[in-house]
Amino acid sequence: MPRLVKCSFCGREVEPGTGLMYVKNDGSILWFCSRKCYKNYLILKRDPRKLKWTLKYGQQMR
Ligand SMILES: [Zn+2]
Repeated sequence: MPRLVKCSFCGREVEPGTGLMYVKNDGSILWFCSRKCYKNYLILKRDPRKLKWTLKYGQQMR
């Protein structure tokens, strides 16, 4: 049974069978709910805390 994962960019839940998985060089796994999130994270390298359409918008950086 697949575990429910959250989008590494926007923070929304990724439904099993959908989304994109990306394995980083250090072996950690990232999930993205859509190509939009994938692109913003990996290509545009945007900060989700600064984008209103993500659930991370306005969160404090730790
Ligand atoms: Zn997302």
